[in-house]
Amino acid sequence: MSKNSRSGFSITTRMTQVGRDPSKQAGFVNPAIYRGSTVVFPTVNDLEHRRMEFTYGTDGTPTIANLENAWSELAGAAGTVLSPSGIGAIALALLTTLKSGDHLLMPDSVYRPTRLLCAGMLAKMGIETSYYDPLLGKDIVTQFRANTSVLFLESPGSQSFEVQDVPTMTALAKEHGITTIIDNTWATPLFFRAHEHGCDLSVEAGTKYLGGHSDLLLGLISANAQWWPKLREAYDLMSMLPGAEDCFLALRGLRTMHLRLKAAETRALELANWLKSRPEVLKVLHPAFPECPGHEFWQRDFTGSSGLFSIILQPQYSKAALENMLDYLSIFAMGFSWGGFESLVLPFNCADYRSVTHWQPGGLAIRIQVGLEDMNELKTDLEQGFERLKKFV
Ligand SMILES: *Cc1c(COP(=O)(O)O)cnc(C)c1O
Repeated sequence: MSKNSRSGFSITTRMTQVGRDPSKQAGFVNPAIYRGSTVVFPTVNDLEHRRMEFTYGTDGTPTIANLENAWSELAGAAGTVLSPSGIGAIALALLTTLKSGDHLLMPDSVYRPTRLLCAGMLAKMGIETSYYDPLLGKDIVTQFRANTSVLFLESPGSQSFEVQDVPTMTALAKEHGITTIIDNTWATPLFFRAHEHGCDLSVEAGTKYLGGHSDLLLGLISANAQWWPKLREAYDLMSMLPGAEDCFLALRGLRTMHLRLKAAETRALELANWLKSRPEVLKVLHPAFPECPGHEFWQRDFTGSSGLFSIILQPQYSKAALENMLDYLSIFAMGFSWGGFESLVLPFNCADYRSVTHWQPGGLAIRIQVGLEDMNELKTDLEQGFERLKKFV
């Protein structure tokens, strides 16, 4: 299938076509899984001129290239490289764009391991990170310094769900010669077009909705035309590749991602609306709800919402009461990550690590990942949890 034969089709159709070519797969619908280190060359001359599509396993394989190409097409990017995890992809994006002596701007709502990466590895390399209020919008210019080289965005913010004014911030960064990287994991390219909104690099934890089954770790970084050659170079130099099985599973996940994401959206909205009506809940932090900070930017820039949001409980409940609620849930499990088929809850407190904004939501917070279980049974599980919560006041 040539690229041309696909142009003009919708994303939904392209997701069934990208990253595979039956004419090169003995007619089979799906590509084979390639594993390997050595690539052999027919002649000395071919070897000397590296005249093969892949010259060694660290260049990648057809399995890796299928996923890279599929993601580039989906993301509207000039190119994509992969990483063995989402945090690995963030590390590679930062190492591609930063050098010793540079200043990096990070939103205070950023995914916590990203913060640890800045404080650990980047600080050691002489890169200074400062944090900004994710809702600064055009006032982001007040944070720019002469040596600011990267503005990092994550929208909505991890756990707290502030939606950022991405197009305004990327336009201002561009005017000042500052590179922009976004962590677009929550929305995926299906619900937020990062490159069209001005982001140079866009990172996705494929661990979440692309994998979709909590059975793999994967990261993807897509780049616009300006950054693509530099991203590919950094990736080739470091050669941190994911395993073939994980790429195969991710490509398989890609075929149904739009359906799973739509189901996650509908189900999360239903559960969030139900939670909003509960007397035990003070507020719902979900980008599609007007009380979510930056909701107007979600409404303007996004084409959907995914299955992860948070709730804030009424102020009278204690930590012990929260534990009594969560420890005995029968469907919702507790654990990190999200985007799989199973429902999860996670108690959290952003105040533990924020540095420039105050996290005072008015009560204890729980993050919710809505899985594919029966909706009434999910509500009953939480309802019984609320009864245990109230017993402990
Ligand atoms: C999970 C997550 C990551 C990291 O992905 P891993 O594959 O678990 O390393 C990065 N950013 C966000 C927003 C995430 O939710």
